[in-house]
Amino acid sequence: MLGQTGEVTDRFVTAVAPTRATDVIRAAREPGGSTRVGPARLIIDLDAIRANTAELCRRAGRAQVMAVVKADGYGHGLVPSARAALAGGATWLGTALLGEALELRRQGVGGRILSWLHTPGEPFADAVRADVDLAAAAPWALDEIAAAAQQAATTARVHLKFDTGLGRNGAYGPGAEQLIRRAAELDSAGILSIVGVMSHFAYADAPGHPTVRAQRETFERYVETCERAGLDVQVRSLANSAATLTDPSCAFDLVRPGLAVYGLSPVPQLGGPQEFGLRPAMTCSADLALVKDIPAGQGLSYGHDYVPAQDTRIGIVPMGYADGVPRGAGNVGPVAVRQRDGDLRRVTVSGRVCMDQVVLDLGAATRAREGDEVVLFGDPATGVPSAQDWAEATNTISYEIITRMSTRLPRVFHGEGDA
Ligand SMILES: *Cc1c(COP(=O)(O)O)cnc(C)c1O
Repeated sequence: MLGQTGEVTDRFVTAVAPTRATDVIRAAREPGGSTRVGPARLIIDLDAIRANTAELCRRAGRAQVMAVVKADGYGHGLVPSARAALAGGATWLGTALLGEALELRRQGVGGRILSWLHTPGEPFADAVRADVDLAAAAPWALDEIAAAAQQAATTARVHLKFDTGLGRNGAYGPGAEQLIRRAAELDSAGILSIVGVMSHFAYADAPGHPTVRAQRETFERYVETCERAGLDVQVRSLANSAATLTDPSCAFDLVRPGLAVYGLSPVPQLGGPQEFGLRPAMTCSADLALVKDIPAGQGLSYGHDYVPAQDTRIGIVPMGYADGVPRGAGNVGPVAVRQRDGDLRRVTVSGRVCMDQVVLDLGAATRAREGDEVVLFGDPATGVPSAQDWAEATNTISYEIITRMSTRLPRVFHGEGDA
């Protein structure tokens, strides 16, 4: 498709790491096996993205689904993820940045696209020409989008973004009244078409938290205020992944799941992906670069934070913090080693994570050899650690684990997500 493509040799694919994650490497499909690209890679299952989106459509009922593909499709690759989500039934795509939305259009991606985080001076005229919906959180944004619409000799579609209690982007208090007043003027002048109202939750991952209901009610009041000001609000959207999975009363006209599209649970305390009918789409794996014997007492990696008590055998994983492996995973990150005979063994990172390498104490009895695959995280249903396991080991959330993986790692796309 675009960028560098891999050369398929029998069961291995060799490829240069793409400089941009959106470069597509079509892997030779191997049922039941993984396709090796480079010393380390992210394997992206586009069929999982498509199926997860279909499941979210089912749960959304009459509401439409916007697949959020910001941050390079949560690290999975912007364009392939977007196409797979559209194939799964999403009718909208959501991005934080306008540049992400414009890149989708440049690559010929269809569907409604909305971007919602803007600063003064952005190329709003390009957005209007590219048929991108824009969110506005303040009058300055309405005025810039209006100027862009007049320059492009068309009407711009705008969603008013309110802060209903998250305490982040969005108009709040008197600022919300000013936003509605200016929006009504520009809408009745035919310069802008105010099509939507949106807001975002602070605590959707804690269903039953009193702020969830309070924010929903505040949201409904903003919609009513807009309608009293003469606006025809067609697209009310409030729900992220957590609300889409746990609270159908928040679906309104459009839900905006991100994390769940990629098959991870936004409410791990309530259930993993399987409990919600989802499948993780990203597998992070590498091949062992070296396996060698080490005597008891020989410290491993910088600072010797790990010292084996017995003679043992260690493996070198060619992946480190420059690839997005959290440096905080030293002595705690879970890993599965797939030995040549297919046996899967769980071990923990031994000592500090380096820029390019991680060390594993494999135990003296290991049958692992150079070239064997090591899975850092993937679908836990297959016996490997999950992104959630990595999040818990390193005191963060699975969102950060998947979005932090570096563009140094080639994305290898499996499946026919966009077929
Ligand atoms: C990121 C984001 C989403 C998606 O959130 P998830 O928790 O990943 O589902 C939805 N809406 C807005 C405004 C966002 O910034």
